[in-house]
Amino acid sequence: MLSNEGYTGYYKWKDKETEDEFTIIIPQIISHSLFNKTKKTMKRNQKNKGNNLRKYESLLSDFMTCSCGQSITGNINRGTRKSGEKINSEVYICSSRSNYWKGKKVNPCENRRILNMNDTDKLVLKCIKKVVNESSTLKERFKNDILKDKNKQDDEIRDEKKRLECWIRNYESQIELTTDSISKVEINNMLKKIDDKVYPKLMRGLKDELIHLEDERKKTIQEIDDLDNRKEWIDWVGKFGKEIEKNLDKKPHETIQGLIKELVVYPVMGNNRDNETKQIGHRIKIHFQLPIVKDQLSWNDEMGKTKGYTLKKGNKVYQTDDLPVNVGGRPKKNKQTRV
Ligand SMILES: [Zn+2]
Repeated sequence: MLSNEGYTGYYKWKDKETEDEFTIIIPQIISHSLFNKTKKTMKRNQKNKGNNLRKYESLLSDFMTCSCGQSITGNINRGTRKSGEKINSEVYICSSRSNYWKGKKVNPCENRRILNMNDTDKLVLKCIKKVVNESSTLKERFKNDILKDKNKQDDEIRDEKKRLECWIRNYESQIELTTDSISKVEINNMLKKIDDKVYPKLMRGLKDELIHLEDERKKTIQEIDDLDNRKEWIDWVGKFGKEIEKNLDKKPHETIQGLIKELVVYPVMGNNRDNETKQIGHRIKIHFQLPIVKDQLSWNDEMGKTKGYTLKKGNKVYQTDDLPVNVGGRPKKNKQTRV
C-alpha cells in the first residue's frame, strides 16, 4: 500500500472516460522521508523476490544488473547427484530468460554465459578496495564526518527535514487552491460569465502556476531524499569508515551497501577456439555512490602547503578487467571428419 503516493498526502487521479486529471489532497499519514525509504526497501525486496536463498548468501546479487536491463540473480546449487557426484555450483545469472518465460517483456540479452560467483566476488571486492584506498575524497570525508559531532549532524538533518516537510504541505495546499481556481474558471466559462479574451489568459496563468508548484514540490521531496542519503552516509561512516578494508572482509555486504549503487555486467565478445564470435568474458562497471574513482587532491600552492588543497571530483564509475568465462565448463565437441 505504501507504493501509493497518496499516503503522503497528495494524490493524482485520472478519469478514465474524460482523461481529465484531478489532484486530490488527503490528510498526510506518513512523512516523505519514510515514504522514500519504504520505496527503496520495496525495490530491494522486489529484486530478491522468488530468490529463496538466505539473504546474503550471494554477496553481489542485490547490486547486479545485466546490460540488457534485467537483474542478475545469485544461484547456489549444492547437493549430491544420484551417481554420487557432488554438485557445488555457485553462479550469477541474468534473469532475462526466466523473466521471458514468465511472460515479461525483455530486451535481447548478450550475456549468455553465467558468471562464476567466487571469481566475480573476488574481482569486484578487489576493485572496490583499490578505489577506496586511492580515493582522497573518502579520506577527507572520513576525517570530517568522524571529527564532526555526529549528534549535532543528526539534529541538523532532522530540523532541516522538518522544515522541508512543512514546505511540501505548503505547496500542496497551494496546489489545491490553484486546482480549485481552475475548476471555478472552467465553470464560469461554461456559464459564459467570463470574457472570451480573458479566459485563455487566466487559464494559462493558472496552469503555469500549477506546473511551477508541482515542480517545487518534487524538488523538495528530492531534497529530503538527499538528506536521508546524507544521514545514511554519516551512519555508515561511523560504523565502517575507519576500518573500511577490514570491514570489506568482515561484513562485506553491509560495507558495500554504503559504497555501491549498482554493478552493471556487460558481455565481452571475441573469437573462441573454433574461431566463432562468442561471449568470451564479462566486464563489470561498478557504480559508486560518490565520485571517488580517480579523484585528486591538489595543493593550492605546491611550494607552500599551508595554503591548503582542493579536492577534484573523480568519476562514479569504475570498470573492472575482463572476467573470462569458464572455458573448462563445456567439453569441445568432436567434429566428425570424413575420411
Ligand atoms: Zn541480460
